[in-house]
Amino acid sequence: MPSPLVNPSPAFADLGLSAPLQRAIQDAGYVTPTPIQAQAIPLVLAGGDLLAAAQTGTGKTAGFTLPILHRLSAKPLTPKPGRPRCLILVPTRELAAQVEESVQTYGKHLALVSMVMFGGVNINPQYKALKGRVDILVATPGRLLDHVGQKTVDLSGVEILVLDEADRMLDMGFIRDIRKVIGLIPKQRQTLLFSATFSEEIRTLANTLLNNPGTVEVARRNTASELVEQSVHLVPQGHKKEFLAHLIRHHNWQQVLVFTRTKHGANKLAEKLIKDRIPAAAIHGNKSQAARTRALAQFKDGTLQVLVATDIAARGIDIDQLPQVVNFELPNVPEDYVHRIGRTGRAGSVGAAVSLVDNEEMGYLKDIERLIKRSIARVVVEDFVMPETAASHLGMDDEDRRPPRPAGGRNPPNRSAPRRADAPRKPPAPGGGKPARGGAPVRHGARPSAALLGTKKGS
Ligand code: AMP
Repeated sequence: MPSPLVNPSPAFADLGLSAPLQRAIQDAGYVTPTPIQAQAIPLVLAGGDLLAAAQTGTGKTAGFTLPILHRLSAKPLTPKPGRPRCLILVPTRELAAQVEESVQTYGKHLALVSMVMFGGVNINPQYKALKGRVDILVATPGRLLDHVGQKTVDLSGVEILVLDEADRMLDMGFIRDIRKVIGLIPKQRQTLLFSATFSEEIRTLANTLLNNPGTVEVARRNTASELVEQSVHLVPQGHKKEFLAHLIRHHNWQQVLVFTRTKHGANKLAEKLIKDRIPAAAIHGNKSQAARTRALAQFKDGTLQVLVATDIAARGIDIDQLPQVVNFELPNVPEDYVHRIGRTGRAGSVGAAVSLVDNEEMGYLKDIERLIKRSIARVVVEDFVMPETAASHLGMDDEDRRPPRPAGGRNPPNRSAPRRADAPRKPPAPGGGKPARGGAPVRHGARPSAALLGTKKGS
C-alpha cells in the first residue's frame, strides 16, 4: 500500500485566513507560506502577542500583515477620521513605504484603508489623509510624534501595535520616541515585535511591551543567509572604484546593490561609475525622498544598473531576486554585514555578496567571520592587473600581480572567471606572517599572495 505523502508545510488555505485574503495571496503568486508565515499567522489570528526573530527576506511582512487584515476586517467599526486601529512602527522611510505597499497588496479585496507616514516629505498631504478614515497606519516614529504634537492623529483607538525591525529602531536611537508612542496607545492591545537580532535592549523592550507572547524564530540569531554565496577580494581602498567597475563589466552584472560606509563615499562612487558609463545612482539620508524613490524605481525596473547605498538608506529595500550585493567597504558593525547580504538570496532565490577589503579592514572581516561562524572565500579575479602602487601596498611582487596560472601551466578555459582562492598557490614561509589589525596574517614580503589572496581562514 502506498504510504501517504506527508507535507510538513501547511497550505495557505489551512491557516484560517478569510477568502478575500486568500485571493490576494493567489494574486501575489504565493503558493506555500514561508516558515514565519506558517508559524506567525495562526498565533496572530488567535489574538496573542508575538515575539518574532526574523530578518527581512523571510516573508515576515505578510506574516503579520495578513492576520492583522483578517482581524480588523472581521470586526468592522465605524471609522473615526485620523484614528487608526493598527499602528505599524518601522525605522526607515523605505521600509514604511514597502510595508504599506504590502498592506495594500494583501488588503486589495478588503475595504480597509491604510496610510504611510514618514519625515523628509511635505506634511500637508499627510494632514489631508488624516482627515479621513485610516485603519492601518505605517509610520516612522519621528514623524508620527510630529503629528501627535499637532493633534492631527489620534492613537487612542489602536488595537494592534507592530514594531518592525525593532533592533534597527533601537540602533537608530528611536527608543525614547517608541516609549512615548506606546504611552499614548491603549494598554489593552495586541503587540507584535519583530527583530533580526536580540540584544539585551530588545529583550528589555519585549519584556515591558509584550504580554505572554508566542515566540517564532525562523532565522537563528545572526545567521548569514545560507543562500548567499559570499566572497572577498583584497583590494586597496584607493583602487576599489576601478576594481568595482572592472567587476561589473567583467561579470556583466545588470543589477548590483553596492554598500558604502559614508554618504560622501556613496556619491563619489556613483560619480565614478557614471564617468565609466555604468548607469549608477546613490541613495542616502541627504537625498530628497523624491530622488531616493526615483532611484529605487529605476533600479527595480532595470534602467539603473548600480545602486550605491549607505546601510540606513538600504534598510528595507525589497527587490525580488536581487542577484548581486557588493560591500565596497565592510561595515564596522558585523551585524550590518548580515543585514546587507540579506538583500540578496531572498525568498528562495540564489544571490551573491562580494566584499572589497583593504588591509585596514581585516579586523572587520575577522569580526564578521566570527559572527557568521564561517570563513569567507578569498577570490582572485583574473584579468585585473593590480596597479603597481596598489600591489606594493598589499605586499605583492610582479608575478603575484599577474593572473595566476593553474597547476600544469595551461591557461584555464575561461580566463575571465573569478577563481576561488581557497588553496594557496605557494605556501607562505613559516613564521613570516604579520597580523593585520585583528585579522588574518598578512605577509609583507617577497611572496605574500597566498596569505593575502589565497587562504581560507579557519575560525
Ligand atoms: P519580507 O521578508 O516580508 O521582506 O518578504 C520578502 C519577499 O518575499 C517579498 O518580496 C515578498 O513578496 C516575498 N514573499 C512573501 N511571502 C511569500 C510566499 N509565501 N511565497 C513567495 N514569496 C513570498
